[in-house]
Amino acid sequence: MADIIPFKKPRLSVRHKGKTLCSNGFHKWIEDKKTGFDVKKGKLITQYKCTRCGKTRVKST
Ligand SMILES: [Zn+2]
Repeated sequence: MADIIPFKKPRLSVRHKGKTLCSNGFHKWIEDKKTGFDVKKGKLITQYKCTRCGKTRVKST
């Protein structure tokens, strides 16, 4: 377990370039579900999903 290589292969970082954007807050949002209803807030909401990392967010309309 102690013999962990302290650096990653360059190819891996290129592959995860999009996720770096995501970690900096630059998500690629697409509309996931058209409209829903937030019962707690009593508002209509639209759900968005990031195409890269799969994170979801809701936006009240
Ligand atoms: Zn993302």
